[in-house]
Amino acid sequence: MRVALVTVGDELLSGDTVNTNAAWLGDQLAARGVHVERATVVPDRIADIARVVNEYHAEYDAVIVTGGLGPTHDDLTMEAVATAFGRETEQNADALEWLTDHGGYQRDDLATGTADLPAGAEPLHNEVGVAPGCVVGSVYVLPGVPAEMKAMFEGIADRFSGVRRHVETVAVDEPESALVDRFEELRERFEVKVGSYPGEFVRVKLESEDESAVAAAAAWLRENATLR
Ligand code: ATP
Ligand code: MG
Repeated sequence: MRVALVTVGDELLSGDTVNTNAAWLGDQLAARGVHVERATVVPDRIADIARVVNEYHAEYDAVIVTGGLGPTHDDLTMEAVATAFGRETEQNADALEWLTDHGGYQRDDLATGTADLPAGAEPLHNEVGVAPGCVVGSVYVLPGVPAEMKAMFEGIADRFSGVRRHVETVAVDEPESALVDRFEELRERFEVKVGSYPGEFVRVKLESEDESAVAAAAAWLRENATLR
């Protein structure tokens, strides 16, 4: 399964908020064997959100959008997702009923538009906050607040699956440039994907659906490199 992430918010682009939602979702999805192929940050602007959602909906098996759900002026995601599908937003009876029955809210206490979702969307209830999320086609719309996003994702996590990949990481204490030949040999000898992430040392990530291939590649590298 190939998935694209769209995180919405001016504060992510300006660096005021670190995009932990994309990192957390990337990690969760990878652990389920799902390939995350895009993670795009877009501003709080309907046309930008709609364009990216529309494009990724056509290209990937699923799209996960986070942020911009609340009822304030800069929360435009629901309208943008509706636009991407050529729909309007409308008050969702299920979402409203859940907020009043389970959320403990009086209808009149809820800000106008709280339960407005793209027409025909499946609501996703917000166990932690107020604003509901939703599913339209294969587009999943989740809140921006990390705790709310995580709780809502847990409720739909089963809908994301793939073949589990096995990973081993080897910490190598050599310059990355010195490892080029060994990376080539690794890829020739073993059916593994080799990732090289330099920092204070080089973190070599070996990855495959075949657990024994990963183990053999890691053992070979440990024998043929200076370890940290
Ligand atoms: P709510 O569920 O309260 O309606 P929302 O969906 O409207 O939330 P935003 O208004 O976009 O979410 O953001 C709420 C908070 O979550 C802000 O403090 C924002 O900085 C933070 N936030 C939004 N997106 C992310 C992200 N990708 N990573 C980390 N924090 C984020
Ligand atoms: Mg926002």
